[in-house]
Amino acid sequence: MPEETETVDWAAIPGPPGWYEPDRVARGLRVLSGAADPVRAAEAGSLLGCGGIVHDHSGSVFPAAVTAAPPLLDIARRGRPAARDTALVLLDEALSFHPHAGYTRVTAPGGTGVPLCCALAHHLRAHADFLTGPDRRGRSLLADAAAHWRFEVHECVADGDGTAAFGVLAGRFPEGVHAAEMHHGGDVTALDGLTLAYPPEDDSPEACLRVRARHPDELPPGAVLFPAECGERPR
Ligand SMILES: [Zn+2]
Repeated sequence: MPEETETVDWAAIPGPPGWYEPDRVARGLRVLSGAADPVRAAEAGSLLGCGGIVHDHSGSVFPAAVTAAPPLLDIARRGRPAARDTALVLLDEALSFHPHAGYTRVTAPGGTGVPLCCALAHHLRAHADFLTGPDRRGRSLLADAAAHWRFEVHECVADGDGTAAFGVLAGRFPEGVHAAEMHHGGDVTALDGLTLAYPPEDDSPEACLRVRARHPDELPPGAVLFPAECGERPR
């Protein structure tokens, strides 16, 4: 297991009391990284899946899942087949389960709280090369992560009564009109009336979003947008 994972203080990561059991995470990751057979992988799956990073019976996910995602992806990439399957199942549960109220976000480098699902999707996309491989579960995980789109503003110009924002899109912006939360300078601002003016072409992540009734100055370069609905999914 990577050294930085061994030194994580899981008890310092917030989680719903009575549900989140931080000591299960360190043990679970250690067992899973060395698991060579289905029995050991199942033991790790139970440690991590029943109060470690998720609680599978109640369908809830904890903030520790975001910190555990990089080591789980590393295990999925390098571990034995049984360990890989367990790691992918746990990541799939973490992405699709709902967080408890009060434990729905993790702090991003900019100081704002990003929804757990979107932070997980960001980690998954960093391993797209591996997840697009032959494993069906990896491909479906990446497809699910695409719904948690992320748009980073590079430049804006006035466009009718609104703004055309040019930037980089990760994931897939759905058809139609959508709301977003904009993270910039430590603040989160609600935006609505967003449409995709033109989608990314070929392998380029460049895209343009139209934002209704907003002045270009309201979307500064470096601002990051996430789907508003992701911020509204506590249990
Ligand atoms: Zn999300």
